[in-house]
Amino acid sequence: MSQPAGAPAVSREPVDGTCPWCGARDLRRYPVLSEGGWFQVVKCQTCLRSTSRDRWELLGPVQLTSTGLSFD
Ligand SMILES: [Zn+2]
Repeated sequence: MSQPAGAPAVSREPVDGTCPWCGARDLRRYPVLSEGGWFQVVKCQTCLRSTSRDRWELLGPVQLTSTGLSFD
């Protein structure tokens, strides 16, 4: 199953650390939608294995679109 079209783009935040699987130091944290809702994962960009997986906001990045807007 692929990502739904029109899903909001999310940035991949670099994370300090070393991949326990392949030893690469290119870890990124970003939200993914899977069965059971949104998860915040840290994934190695070299071997693409997840090094951590945490429950995230129910609505995912949709909630973040209003953050930081100013109305003056
Ligand atoms: Zn790796």
